[in-house]
Amino acid sequence: MNKLAGIYTHIPFCIKKCPYCDFYSITDQSLKKPFINALIREIDLVSRPSLLFDSIYFGGGTPSVFKAEDISHIIEKMYGLFHILTNSEITIEVNPGTVTLEKLKEYRSIGINRINIGVQSFQDATLDFLGRIHSTNDANKIIKFAQKTGFDNIGIDLICGIPGQTKKTWLFDLRKAVEFEPEHISCYMLTYEKGTPLDRERQQGKFKPVADSLSAELFKTTIEYLTAHGYIQYEISNFAKDTHRKSRHNLKYWSFTPYLGFGPSAHSFIDPKRYWNCRNVKKYINNIKEGRLSIEKKEILSKEQRMMEMVYLGLRKTDGININTIDENLGINFRHMFAEKLKQLEEDGYILRIQPKNHCTLSRKGMLFLDSIAPMLMIDD
Ligand code: SF4
Repeated sequence: MNKLAGIYTHIPFCIKKCPYCDFYSITDQSLKKPFINALIREIDLVSRPSLLFDSIYFGGGTPSVFKAEDISHIIEKMYGLFHILTNSEITIEVNPGTVTLEKLKEYRSIGINRINIGVQSFQDATLDFLGRIHSTNDANKIIKFAQKTGFDNIGIDLICGIPGQTKKTWLFDLRKAVEFEPEHISCYMLTYEKGTPLDRERQQGKFKPVADSLSAELFKTTIEYLTAHGYIQYEISNFAKDTHRKSRHNLKYWSFTPYLGFGPSAHSFIDPKRYWNCRNVKKYINNIKEGRLSIEKKEILSKEQRMMEMVYLGLRKTDGININTIDENLGINFRHMFAEKLKQLEEDGYILRIQPKNHCTLSRKGMLFLDSIAPMLMIDD
């Protein structure tokens, strides 16, 4: 198992809240300065873990509301206190409505080597529905700027399963993305998170969500189109141009690898400990000002929880779960414990079992039913 750890930094500011989003962020920009000061102080307060890191990720929220100078202070602080490899992947999520060619050049000059652009769609009507602040033109321009600036590791995020979308309109988005030849494409299915304005509108019948059959068709279309255009699917929603362009950061989440999280709502995981910060910028700033971390909750994962994470997250990857690793980590005999279920799932075409390297992998059909299949391969709490 890859033990090189990752660092996640949550930047909790957005220009405007998108109605489908339940990531923690606020639109009041007046706290940006005290937030950056608190973030730098938080990095100081964390005990120096004996971990070796090979990725830093700025997510959010909208990290690109910050100037390169602010991000640079954070990176320098991290390099000063943690063991971070010199060839680390350093990613910033960028909203096309918040950057310019100049800003991208500055990001590159401070050592950021991967840009993840939240395009979501190449159609203005869809962007309107999603409540995005940017237009198709902005997205096209920013992708070109990022390439012109010399970034050779660019990710494009798209959303599929949007009401009104058809196979034809989704193929249009995929085609536009592929035309730019980005190194990475993520295609996330629109979900209706409880408490979001979009979910309320759905409940009020203001629009009709796409049918399950269409979601399945869009998913199949995505895999067929992107693999036909040279992309490797390495996780349910993630595709890379070649193996070394897989997102190191994302892979850590699905591989039970340690990561530290900074900023409000950020999670940290060092097996078997998991803890997370409060979802409130003001409280976060105040706690840090008073010299204490702003951790909301800590938990020690039980054997059952560890297994759940290993199976549920591992099955998201096209490499699947490594049965030897699970056996060694949990002191079980996975193959023996789930012999019946594995046989049935394989016969029904949901898993592609147990490959030469002793991996258990979901089939394309199985990926559509991850939420039902994963619990069948877990021990009860
Ligand atoms: S810009 Fe991103 S983080 Fe901010 S509200 Fe929209 S989807 Fe959420």
